[in-house]
Amino acid sequence: MSRVRTRFAPSPTGSLHVGGARTALYCWLFARRHEGDFLLRIEDTDRARSTEEATRGILRDMRWLGLAWDEGPEVGGPCAPYFQSERLELYQEHVRALLESGHAYEAWESRDELDALRRVAEAAKENFRFRRREPYTATELQTFREEGRKPVVRLKAPPHAITVDDVVVGTMSQAADEIEDVVILKADGFPTYHFGVVVDDHTMAITHVLRGQEHLMNTPKHLAILEALGWDSPVHAHLPIIFNLSGSKMSKRDKAKAARDGLRDLQKAEGRPADDWAWFASRIDVDAVALHRFMKKKSDDVALATTIAAELGLDLPMIEVMDFRRGGYLAEALLNYLALLGWSAGDDRERYTLEELAEAFSLERVNKQPAKFDPVKLQAMNADWLRDLDRPRYLEALHQWFEVVDTPLARLSEDDLSTVIDLFQSRARTFVDLEKQSAFLRAAPTSWDEKDVAKHIRKGGGLEHLTQARAALADVGRWEADSIERAFQRLCEASGKGLGKYAQPVRIAIAGCAVTPSLWQTLAALDREDVLARIDRALEHLAAEA
Ligand code: GLU
Repeated sequence: MSRVRTRFAPSPTGSLHVGGARTALYCWLFARRHEGDFLLRIEDTDRARSTEEATRGILRDMRWLGLAWDEGPEVGGPCAPYFQSERLELYQEHVRALLESGHAYEAWESRDELDALRRVAEAAKENFRFRRREPYTATELQTFREEGRKPVVRLKAPPHAITVDDVVVGTMSQAADEIEDVVILKADGFPTYHFGVVVDDHTMAITHVLRGQEHLMNTPKHLAILEALGWDSPVHAHLPIIFNLSGSKMSKRDKAKAARDGLRDLQKAEGRPADDWAWFASRIDVDAVALHRFMKKKSDDVALATTIAAELGLDLPMIEVMDFRRGGYLAEALLNYLALLGWSAGDDRERYTLEELAEAFSLERVNKQPAKFDPVKLQAMNADWLRDLDRPRYLEALHQWFEVVDTPLARLSEDDLSTVIDLFQSRARTFVDLEKQSAFLRAAPTSWDEKDVAKHIRKGGGLEHLTQARAALADVGRWEADSIERAFQRLCEASGKGLGKYAQPVRIAIAGCAVTPSLWQTLAALDREDVLARIDRALEHLAAEA
């Protein structure tokens, strides 16, 4: 058997989302499993929508995930270049060969003419499949050229049905009359996705094509092109679609939808006319036409959705890899979760490192049914991963987080950061949690949780216990966890009361609520003066309120 070669082939029209990351992961795992090669190819043939920024973002996210590629941008390889826009001659050469062998032809129909043909088919309740078998007349050709038309090149659809044999989905056939003469070269000299993908997969010796099921309907076209070129087909594996828990397809559009809903709510709350968005456009300083189009669902611009959400203080759904990185997730946990989103080893095991996955992964165990993305489950998995991480990796991951967010944790000294990790590593589900949970270490509370105050301070003499605890803390010799603990023990022994009677009011005073990590460690992490001042503030405030 030839050496296994897989590829991840994103179009750089936006940032990498979790669906793409899962495809990349499965390609990576399959290649590793079979000691083969994993390639990264940038499919930038849509000139209007591809951007260098998106390419940079995809490479950055792939590196963050730890999915290194054996061949591709930045690393090179024997099949370079790995950007389709730099391979135009290769595609054109194969197009010429197909034109010469009679498998392809130049097609001159304008967009309007094609639309008219489509309408005719629709009126007759037929699917529109463009095919042209009679040649254009010399006069027609002359007119087209004079009009300045540029032809596209189409492949003549084969006269027989096409069967896709997919490792995941099974067998799927398309009848001969359902296949159109697919465009392979656009008027601008760029290949279509269909042609680029087939030529590249062949010339890059790709053995296994793993991609999302949304591409399944494209595969017959690819098989038709392969047949015309006389090339063998790679193995196909179409991966299950990823759905939200609500049942809709998980997509970047979810962000636009959430932003739209939020803005509509505000519009209603303010009693403004339904279709007037100009006021908000000027408030966030964006083009009114762009906002109008967005609200009318004519665009799903993620950047605009993000701006709207920021203004409204709204959390958008996390869809893109960068959302999870900013949200304080670990690459290991995200990959672990994505691996199980459409694949399982057939047992209950849930925790896997990338290496373990590479050993266990097989295409035969990929599901064909849609997968459901459960953010709560991912968060729980992230918590587990974070809890068990060794310190060097924890710090490394945290610093990678610092690169993409503005957080006070990034400004802590190494020692203070270590203290935060000592205290909160087992509790924080994400790095965002780590920041939030440890906030009280950096700033004294200005409010005290009402329920906790009612339970631990109002009931049973909490203020008195707090006063006694303050005195005991003022008396502690060395300000260290052990001696602080002993001071509390003495307090309990002398009064015959349980530790909770003292500990909870102190927690409320120093943290604003009754939940903190180990009290001794937490107190030791603060300065004694600070602790006493916080207790004084709480005593004063809570006594006044009583
Ligand atoms: N450029 C395509 C995409 O981003 C790749 C599909 C494929 O893997 O063939 O969806």
